[in-house]
Amino acid sequence: MTSFTQLKEREEALLCRTYGRYPLAVKTAQGSVLTDFDGREHIDLLSGIAVTNLGHCHPALADVMNEQARKLVHLSNLFYQEEQLNLAEKLLATAHFGKVFFCNSGAEANEAAIKLARRYAQRVKGRDAGTVITLTGAFHGRTLATVAATGQEKFQDGFAPIPQGFRQVEWGNLDALEAAIGDDTVAVLAEIVQGEGGIRPMPVEYAQGIQDICRKKGILFMVDEVQTGMCRTGRFWAHQHYGLQPDVMTSAKALANGLPMGAMFATDDVARGFELGSHATTFGAGALVSVVAEKVVDIMLQEQLAERAQRVGAAFMEDVRKLGERIPGTIEEVRGLGLMIGIVLTFPGKAVWDELLRRGFVLNLTQDRVLRLLPALNVSEEHLAAFLNTLEELLKEHAAAE
Ligand SMILES: *Cc1c(COP(=O)(O)O)cnc(C)c1O
Repeated sequence: MTSFTQLKEREEALLCRTYGRYPLAVKTAQGSVLTDFDGREHIDLLSGIAVTNLGHCHPALADVMNEQARKLVHLSNLFYQEEQLNLAEKLLATAHFGKVFFCNSGAEANEAAIKLARRYAQRVKGRDAGTVITLTGAFHGRTLATVAATGQEKFQDGFAPIPQGFRQVEWGNLDALEAAIGDDTVAVLAEIVQGEGGIRPMPVEYAQGIQDICRKKGILFMVDEVQTGMCRTGRFWAHQHYGLQPDVMTSAKALANGLPMGAMFATDDVARGFELGSHATTFGAGALVSVVAEKVVDIMLQEQLAERAQRVGAAFMEDVRKLGERIPGTIEEVRGLGLMIGIVLTFPGKAVWDELLRRGFVLNLTQDRVLRLLPALNVSEEHLAAFLNTLEELLKEHAAAE
């Protein structure tokens, strides 16, 4: 029988060594339950990093995939494709944007946004400008331009020269933002809730302040909703919590519930920055991923999963806060929006995270002390309660050992 150790050995011989894997190998997955190679079940509170928002192997998506796989999978973007248009109509109806460009990942969606912002400034506005401003703690992807946008040294290490045209300002500081905008600046790119940065939602005044400054300075306000979009935070898009109207938005992760897909949305005005031949992708929104993504949107709306994420997430965060009060000195803060949740411990979380995984709970540890939960939007309340019970036991043990 295949074991975790055997997979590890084969991988070391075969794959570029870019990933530090979790000590778990999953054979099959259904809903929020992962089954490992020994037949043991685990509760998935990570959803492939906010990707399988509808849970694993959703039967309705499997049906659509199966049917489409025998009809049409890929043609390339040389052809008109009805599946793309059906998806575009549904996605555009969820927000205020006028146009969408489809691609295959979050980084690619952000590349499209950066290219569009520059070309709109240069070709539509006639400005000699190209700099995009991002915020500290950001994560925008791993391509060369998006690691430049991300601005963190650990993601840039050894990859010099890093592309020019990005400037980073301190998260939360509107004065610094305003001061950083110059004649060379075309846009601000920001996450409404920083994900990799440790689940940091923007305060309302800060988010609105960024938009106001962008409008005042005549530059674009672009939001990276690769992780926060697709009902994750309790609205279809996180910026809708704040009544914002960004000029550009990027999406990916949960768009096709596990099939690779990205999208960049823009207002009709800004979309004029791209002309025939300006930008392209071979795979973007092929027929198969498009019909799956369309079904994802249908299910999210029919089952009101944004509203559910809001309700279940708020109740869960309240329960974790109460847990923190019962065991003082263990939980510093619980933050998040909807079902994008960070439990900030007062101490390095590796041992607790290890033990949670051993006891069958799959989640992520980020920024050393933040337990990061991104459960499926249809996760059962029983699964969340089971996690809470186990966390309570572990925190009690920790407090007793102090
Ligand atoms: C995951 C993520 C990306 C990168 O997406 P990929 O599909 O891995 O390229 C970009 N921005 C944010 C906010 C993300 O969470």
